[in-house]
Amino acid sequence: MKIDLHSHTYYSDGHLSPKELIDRAHSMQVDVLAITDHDTVQGIDEALAYQKQLKRPLHIVPGVEISTSWHNFDIHVLGLNVDHQDTDFLQQLELQSLERDRRAQQMSDKLEKAGVANVLEDAKALAGVGQLTRAHFARVLVNRQVVKDFDSVFKKYLGKGKRAHVKPKWISIQQAVSWIHQAGGKAVLAHPGHYDMTTKWLKRLVAEFAEAGGDGMEVIHSHLSPERKKLLAELAAAHGLNSSSGSDFHYPNRWTELGKNLALPEQLVPIWHEWAFVNHLMQTDQQHT
Ligand code: MN
Ligand code: MN
Ligand code: MN
Repeated sequence: MKIDLHSHTYYSDGHLSPKELIDRAHSMQVDVLAITDHDTVQGIDEALAYQKQLKRPLHIVPGVEISTSWHNFDIHVLGLNVDHQDTDFLQQLELQSLERDRRAQQMSDKLEKAGVANVLEDAKALAGVGQLTRAHFARVLVNRQVVKDFDSVFKKYLGKGKRAHVKPKWISIQQAVSWIHQAGGKAVLAHPGHYDMTTKWLKRLVAEFAEAGGDGMEVIHSHLSPERKKLLAELAAAHGLNSSSGSDFHYPNRWTELGKNLALPEQLVPIWHEWAFVNHLMQTDQQHT
């Protein structure tokens, strides 16, 4: 049984269309896949329609990854199993898009002052129908050979404290949790092991996320050391948070793959424990082994 509850399409900073993502998930034998683009649910209908047409078993979980601001950190909150057609929810996500556009304009202005002109235009062309993200800006700078690679863009220009950094004004964690709950979904703290913070801050984050009404946290995600995994499992248990697992797949590469190495430690309560469709899949899975 392969469950992957974190992935992106070209409706945000992923490279694949919903169809391509689903085809890949099928070839990786994923049973349950959440599509969680940054601040948008734009790709969900397309994904559901395509999956239905295929009639091969793969359950698509409608999801989203919402950007929030917490102290000086950008914290990502996943909304899983949301009603992606809820009109209030769509309006709320639209507010996040406006903030993305504001940030993009400011980043472009700052880059212009640093001698790199018209980045916004090119970034928009790359983003196409999707949300405009910093990854698009980075790709423009790499394509233009302003810097040698993706990471250098952040080290030189877009990262915290660098020339073209713009402090985003995202909503609070509490706000994101409440939007997700109103849309009927589960709020999950994304990739807690990835934030550039000390263990002390990480513990505080998990505690405050639980206090804000969060339902779960990713305990398994890519690039985690065994010690880090252990810490995340302990924190989830200590704060009564359910556990989630996701690849955060953006595009085919050597390091991440859909549905790969995502099994949760046995003793934890998975975020899907009350999802009828997963329980049903689990039962049929067992009958076949
Ligand atoms: Mn991303
Ligand atoms: Mn993220
Ligand atoms: Mn992500």
